[in-house]
Amino acid sequence: MDWVTNLPIKRKLTLIILVTCSAVLLLACTALAVYELLDFRSATVRDATVLADILGENTQAALTFDDADAARKVLGALQAEPGVIAARVFGASNQPFADFVRSGSAPQLPLAVAHSGNQFAVGALEIYRPIVLDGKTIGTIYLRTDLRRMYDRLKLFSGIALIVLAVSLALAFALSSRLQRPISEPILALAEIARAVAEKKDYSVRAPTHGGTGELAMLTDAFNHMLAQIARRADELAATNAELEQFAYVASHDLKEPLRMVTQYMGLIERQLGANLSDQHRRFLHFAVDGATRMQTLINDLMSFTRTSHVQENHLPVDLTQVVNEVLATFQERISETRATMRIGELPTISGERTKLALVFQNLIGNALKFHAKDRDPVIDVTSKRIGSDWVISIADNGIGIDPAYRQQIFAVFQRLHGRDEYPGNGMGLAICRKIVDQHHGELWVESRAAGGSVFMLRIPCDPTPAAAQPVLPDAAPVAGLRLAQPS
Ligand code: ADP
Repeated sequence: MDWVTNLPIKRKLTLIILVTCSAVLLLACTALAVYELLDFRSATVRDATVLADILGENTQAALTFDDADAARKVLGALQAEPGVIAARVFGASNQPFADFVRSGSAPQLPLAVAHSGNQFAVGALEIYRPIVLDGKTIGTIYLRTDLRRMYDRLKLFSGIALIVLAVSLALAFALSSRLQRPISEPILALAEIARAVAEKKDYSVRAPTHGGTGELAMLTDAFNHMLAQIARRADELAATNAELEQFAYVASHDLKEPLRMVTQYMGLIERQLGANLSDQHRRFLHFAVDGATRMQTLINDLMSFTRTSHVQENHLPVDLTQVVNEVLATFQERISETRATMRIGELPTISGERTKLALVFQNLIGNALKFHAKDRDPVIDVTSKRIGSDWVISIADNGIGIDPAYRQQIFAVFQRLHGRDEYPGNGMGLAICRKIVDQHHGELWVESRAAGGSVFMLRIPCDPTPAAAQPVLPDAAPVAGLRLAQPS
């Protein structure tokens, strides 16, 4: 029934009306046909019984005087009754006495009285009536009547019923095509507006109202009201986001300034005191500068995370093979340092934001190189496969792996499973990756490899919904300044 669900509402309404009309008309015609059949059968039985009784009376004398010729003459009158095919008069001891057989037909006449009353045989009605004289049965008359007339009438009736059905359906189609408009048009208008809103993010449009108090008028009003509310909320959200961004920018700028000063003055102290500094003091100075540098990195990462919230209006085709090759070029040194083997399979071209998608691969491949096991050289596979309407891209490594208990946690901001001394980093990379993948209507998750290591899986729709259908965000600002999380 999927095809019905997918039909446009106009067709659905017309179909419903036509199916209902056909069912009702078919039922009515069938009921009439059955009534007609039963009526015709009882009329045929009645007529045949009367005819048999008349013949019985007229053959009484012939039976009494054992005059078969006289009986045959009486039966000969049946020639004028086109429905009667054959007749036979039986004597008192059930022996055939006189017959009538319509020329051109060769019915099997019964040799003896089979029963009394009537019986419908194939295409014929058979009747046995006793011939009674002075209360005494002196014989039986058998009559065989053709039912062809009944079938002809049934055929005629069916023909008429079919014509009535066809004309009624044509009329129902014409009427329903016009009468379904008050229902389908407001719904179609709503669907059209909803589509336009989703595609263009234009919340100022409104569905046309036709007045009235019906459910459809209420639905249109509620829809318009909802659009007005969304428009107001979108404006508020855009304003709040802009404010927050401004705040983040100012705050990060203001925070970075004192940090720069700390670093500068520590450097000055080191230079000026020079040889007078003890090893311990030098270590303290180094800790202070290191702390300030890390804080600067943290601030920069937080800014990157905030900026990934921007959604570009137009998604463009992005060749992932090209993206991955560029990412690998940036990691060339690290790859040879770690003696990593990079195996890159065939990758698709998807629709999206190139810079952000590059950032995802930069982070995932960077992590695969960074979290390699000490006892083996890294082997990293980047592959893709199509599943339904999605591309599933996997970045698999043979590194230290991830405890299944933390598979969700690592995607949150600042969440790390290792100390900075062990593996450097801020715990922002995966949070940024997940955000970007969400913006592309995809999914990012991690699985463990049986042979050790992790597989990061990236599911992206082949034909993503236009970017405009995404959540409302402030006017897009350039993603410039986005820092790639380096696997330092
Ligand atoms: P960072 O790399 O700066 O630590 P991420 O957000 O990229 O931050 O990663 C979060 C944490 O997830 C990492 O600290 C690490 O514990 C774990 N992780 C990420 N990728 C891998 C990987 N390929 N193998 C093992 N652990 C990983």
